[in-house]
Amino acid sequence: MPKFRPIKQTRVSEEVAEQLKQSILVGEFRAGDKLPSERELMEEFQVSRVAVREALRSLENAGFVETRQGASGGAYIIELTFENLANAFLDLFLADKISIPELCNVRTLIEPEVARLAAINITDEYRKKLAHILELEDLPVKSLADDIETKTMAHGVLAEICGNRFLEALVKSLMRVTRKVIEEVNPNTLSMHPAGMHRPVVQAVINGKPVEAAQAMRIHALEFGEIMMAMEEAYRKEVGLDICGDENA
Ligand SMILES: [Zn+2]
Repeated sequence: MPKFRPIKQTRVSEEVAEQLKQSILVGEFRAGDKLPSERELMEEFQVSRVAVREALRSLENAGFVETRQGASGGAYIIELTFENLANAFLDLFLADKISIPELCNVRTLIEPEVARLAAINITDEYRKKLAHILELEDLPVKSLADDIETKTMAHGVLAEICGNRFLEALVKSLMRVTRKVIEEVNPNTLSMHPAGMHRPVVQAVINGKPVEAAQAMRIHALEFGEIMMAMEEAYRKEVGLDICGDENA
């Protein structure tokens, strides 16, 4: 008997998922659109209901569609986000495979460049938006969720202004990870991000000063990094104590 190579059978559902994904990626389906029904997909692809369902599930897991129940239920296309990536990062953090210093280091590298570009590309509309964000940041903090929400805005908007969508996606993903880590680790704190930290950055961007904006953002990233690292140290210690028993409880 000659030696044959085994043939890898591509699963039918993977093929269905791949074709649907392609049509989403090229814009044949847009965010908010509903995919054809299971029955229609079965007929179109000439495959079983099981294969269609599996394909839809994998698209859902990959963050391309969401399943809605009810009369107008079905698989709806959602805006592609980095939520999945953020979740994966959070798992890696919880498993101690990504540390806060590593996260902060990446932010310190990326965000000054984002601020620099934002100062170059700033428009009047965004000047107004940024000024409004600074006002919101000065209001009293109601809860940790509220604090995170408000303090994330400036970073997100600067990323929008910077004009590079890959950088924007990276920043937004990094913000999500930061947020998830804080919520997971420090839910009893009211504020993690002191007010006023963004003022020098935002002011430099509004004034169209790229070098100053980058410098100010670098300082902010380093300062906030210190806060995050102190938080992580306390967290890992606490988790460590839990494992050792409750003699300190
Ligand atoms: Zn900040």
